[in-house]
Amino acid sequence: MDFMEELKYQVDLLSAMNRKLSRDEKMLRLICETSNSAFLYYSYEEGTFSTVANWDYFFDFTVTDLRDLTRLYDSVEDEYVIPLREVLFIENQKLKSQAIDVKLKGRHICMEVEVSIVYDALDHPTDKIIRFRDVTKFNTQNDELTYLAYYDILTGLYNRNYFVRLLGEYIRRAEEANETVAVMFLDFDDFRRVNDGMGIIVGDELVQMFGQFLSDLLGDNVIISHFNSDLFCIGIYSPCGARSVETIYKTITERLKKPFKLSGGQEIFITVSAGVAEYPEAATKTLELINCAEIVMFKAKSMGKDKVLYYDGTILDDFLKNVTIENKLKDAVFQQNFIMYYQPQFRTMDRALRGVEALIRWKDDNGKMISPAVFIPIAEKNGAIVPIGAWVIEESLKAFAAWKRKYHYPMIMSLNISAIQYRQPDFIDKVLQLMDKYEISPEEIELEITESILIDDFTEITEKLVVLRDIGVKISLDDFGTGYSSLSYLKGLPIDTLKIDKSFIDTVITDENTRIITESIIYMVKKLGFETIAEGVETEEQFRYLNEIDCDNIQGYFLGKPMPSDKIENLLADMTA
Ligand code: C2E
Ligand code: CA
Ligand code: CA
Repeated sequence: MDFMEELKYQVDLLSAMNRKLSRDEKMLRLICETSNSAFLYYSYEEGTFSTVANWDYFFDFTVTDLRDLTRLYDSVEDEYVIPLREVLFIENQKLKSQAIDVKLKGRHICMEVEVSIVYDALDHPTDKIIRFRDVTKFNTQNDELTYLAYYDILTGLYNRNYFVRLLGEYIRRAEEANETVAVMFLDFDDFRRVNDGMGIIVGDELVQMFGQFLSDLLGDNVIISHFNSDLFCIGIYSPCGARSVETIYKTITERLKKPFKLSGGQEIFITVSAGVAEYPEAATKTLELINCAEIVMFKAKSMGKDKVLYYDGTILDDFLKNVTIENKLKDAVFQQNFIMYYQPQFRTMDRALRGVEALIRWKDDNGKMISPAVFIPIAEKNGAIVPIGAWVIEESLKAFAAWKRKYHYPMIMSLNISAIQYRQPDFIDKVLQLMDKYEISPEEIELEITESILIDDFTEITEKLVVLRDIGVKISLDDFGTGYSSLSYLKGLPIDTLKIDKSFIDTVITDENTRIITESIIYMVKKLGFETIAEGVETEEQFRYLNEIDCDNIQGYFLGKPMPSDKIENLLADMTA
């Protein structure tokens, strides 16, 4: 991917965000604040310049026409004047884009100046975009336009994945400095009553107002995230004084003594339940620490709500002991009450079957289906995921081998693999053994990973992925768009396929910004050489749109729900007829 394309991507994003300006000035402000770039746009036709984003951060004058450029030269250290002039007029060298580093006079700012030119069909330049970026403390966090990647749209607080990353940094710092980090998990009590009784628009507004209130508590060493629905999470580095857990909780309860006044005139009182867990006492890993705080919060709920509870060793044990699913799960592993379903994935272009994603189903003894979204996280916590996961791989490859023998249809089997499975020392060997046993070649297999599993064990897991990929196994990044999704980060991952999360597809028809962002993502991802799959495609309209913007594959209820093996056979019979 060259600079031009990256810039185009960023400009696309920026313009999408710009369009939202009147509705959402806050959003643009945040982008500008976090991009630490200034842009200068030149129109050849009009001979005029316009400045965008953090211009004032670098310069105390504006540039409106060519003559003003001399002021730019005046503001940089002498040795940079000539290179700067050259790069600003790169069209003279018939180049499309170029970047140099420049130092500002009298200030300790190093900036990168990147210029790119857009040419028309006759090779005449039409537009020029110049970006000034502060590279003094070059920092990948600020590398991209980051609103979507880092913030939650509803509340403006950090989104879950970015919060997890920041919390990970707190923990690393605390480890070195022998400090503590507290995590407070907050959840509205009886939020369903608001949502069901007054509608989700009211619910959303309430969440938004509460989020706004929480953002006042943000500060040095305090980070706050809206996870989803009515769940919030606060991370505190070295909690004490004004940022002690007690003070923060008290500030929250004081606020909740007053009602929230909604735009429709309603006044709503809420209470929250809070769970607190501290590094290193409760856990030493980021996700485990959050998990502990969540479990403690559940315990607070079960003890009558509207209270804060602190982690102690027994809470976790009690919790695990008391969860009935957990016990049933143990039996299930034993009796193998599991069934595999397979959801077809189709090539958008011609609706031919690309492959299937294996999705586990669990029927409990009463014949009730329990969703993997419920039991997989528990199985991950208690280790049951290891035998379950092994069973999933074996069962799926067995089915796949049978389809191959019968239909000779070239396709891919995608398997969801959890972090705990990757961590098993013999994981790679086991996969290879099963491939051998069922005579399946590596190209026919795709392993799905989520961004979140890379957070705690990035190096260990990527190393294993690289080994698998060298053999020829495909690796796919699941739920893309829900995490931090930064481009520089993507470039470094050993992946072949990217699955665009259902949450994008859900609003892609109704929300123009989602559309622009989705288009930019697909454009960029294809430039990076990855195959794309859109998840959760439910309507013909979504399908047609995704086809138009060149998304490679489609998975979703519109073309096929998850189904048992014999139904896949029917599909294969159709495909090969
Ligand atoms: P996932 O990997 O993101 O799987 C996609 C989920 O979206 C599946 O839910 C699928 O049934 C659902 N889905 C697909 N198309 C549509 C659609 O058009 N509309 C709607 N509303 N939903 C759609 P499912 O099967 O309940 O699985 C939930 C999650 O459980 C999966 O999310 C995956 O993270 C996990 N999971 C499932 N099977 C396994 C497994 O064998 N191993 C592991 N580790 N995790 C699994
Ligand atoms: Ca998946
Ligand atoms: Ca997914």
